[in-house]
Amino acid sequence: MAKTLVIGFDGATFDVIRPLVDEGLLPNFKQLIEKGASGSLLSTMPPVTGPAWFALATGMTPGQSGFFDFIVRSSCDSWSFRFLDSSDFKNRALWDVLSRSGKKVCLFNYPCLYPPYPVNGFMISGGLGSPNLSGFTYPADIEGRITDFVGRNRQVDLSDARYKDLEVFLTDLQTNFEANVQAVEHVLKQERWDLTWVVFSQTDWLQHMMWKCFENGQAKADKGRPAGYDRRFRDFWACADAAVGRLRACVGDDTNIVIVSDHGFGSVGESFRVNAWLRQEGYLKLVRGGWKGFAVVKKMRNLLRNVAAALAITRFFPGFFVWAKNKTISVMIPLHFIDYENTTAFDPGHIGSMGGIYINGEALKDGQTYDNIRNEIIEKLQQLGKQNHWNVEALKPEDVYGQKAAGSPDIIVRINDGSCVMLKEFDGQIVEYDKLPDRISFLSGTHRMDGVFIAAGPDFRHARLDGARLWDIAPTLLHSFGEPVPPYMEGRVLQQALKSNGQTSRDHACEIPDQQGSRLTREEEQAVRKQLRDLGYFE
Ligand SMILES: [Zn+2]
Repeated sequence: MAKTLVIGFDGATFDVIRPLVDEGLLPNFKQLIEKGASGSLLSTMPPVTGPAWFALATGMTPGQSGFFDFIVRSSCDSWSFRFLDSSDFKNRALWDVLSRSGKKVCLFNYPCLYPPYPVNGFMISGGLGSPNLSGFTYPADIEGRITDFVGRNRQVDLSDARYKDLEVFLTDLQTNFEANVQAVEHVLKQERWDLTWVVFSQTDWLQHMMWKCFENGQAKADKGRPAGYDRRFRDFWACADAAVGRLRACVGDDTNIVIVSDHGFGSVGESFRVNAWLRQEGYLKLVRGGWKGFAVVKKMRNLLRNVAAALAITRFFPGFFVWAKNKTISVMIPLHFIDYENTTAFDPGHIGSMGGIYINGEALKDGQTYDNIRNEIIEKLQQLGKQNHWNVEALKPEDVYGQKAAGSPDIIVRINDGSCVMLKEFDGQIVEYDKLPDRISFLSGTHRMDGVFIAAGPDFRHARLDGARLWDIAPTLLHSFGEPVPPYMEGRVLQQALKSNGQTSRDHACEIPDQQGSRLTREEEQAVRKQLRDLGYFE
């Protein structure tokens, strides 16, 4: 049976890969596309990294899992939220199925796969949603070997003020990428495995910072981003292609190579303040007084930080400013300012690429029902779209996925195919056309619905695929290993990509396995908050 190496490039899209292949910059991608099966891969709605990689690993849709974001509701009895973590994957991911049947698996930097848990092989945490702390490998004794390659600092903080200079950003990104490629090469050569799945987040970070350099090309410089950087954007992708070549060289031709991404990419432009709008429409009420005072403190804090950055004094007192940055504001909006008795709908602070509105059933008054309020908000959002000439998608999860797991948002909102950032403050300008708040002004691009799938090797044939979805990948890989597909995996086997057309066998033994294991500690959770906020993902 052939081994399979899956290489995940976060945010990879054919909108970049196709033109760069045509320019001759990506010879390895070109060869794999020519030899194997390829096509775009529909992301989760909305296309958010954490739940998208979860769908890739488990074959489950967000409608089944309830995971639409990095944050998920802790319980349906309270308005508290937690981060998606490895215990959500445990017993459900394809590597758990393969582990149980004796296959050796190796996971590397898979987003949200923290803390590491025992598998028949290795689990090296380090992707998005993993804190930059020790204790990131299973088994524990390989941590030293990985640290020898990647060092202690395994992430690139996009909000770093030094990255206004794109040269500095690109140097750090390149160093971080190269270190991770070397660590993966080491593991591929030294260890025995049947499935290795590695994820590189650097392509996502590149595109968040430099999308418009690519899109606008040499001709038109983006605000604060000089012309000519489209070349550097292309060069980074050429490095990613070279990494594919290096990893292929480690494994040989008798191994399947599968390249996937969690979502596509496009430019960022408008913004919409969803909670401020819900307040204006009378659905969201705040407790008296508190929020205004908080907003003033927040403004002062930001002002102080900006002045300090401008004067470059952060360099001389870095400890204080790191402290100030970490301690004062949480990633989510301060939910304790919400007057829950009188609030019928709010967004608890979901990631900027989505609005996730919850209906508070306890606050419904005479004559109001859950359905009425939900339909009314959807209608008003569509009207808002018409007024602004925006394409507003305001969707019920069950209409997208046929089901809605407990704890899911009641309405998913996405505007202009994701180019509109959904801000979560309680006040401020509701609609803005070409302006982002300072804290995320570094964002140049954001997520779109179409990821990539490219697969070549002994088990795959040449084909152009249409209509593949993230949740089809786990069933397809299990099938290629000759394993039955568990019934909770909603995805289908992509038969047209595979050489042998064997019947998909379904394992009817199990229901959706319960989530097990530990949640993040407070320290780990704070580290994840900081990481996601630094990427501009939360407020
Ligand atoms: Zn992503």
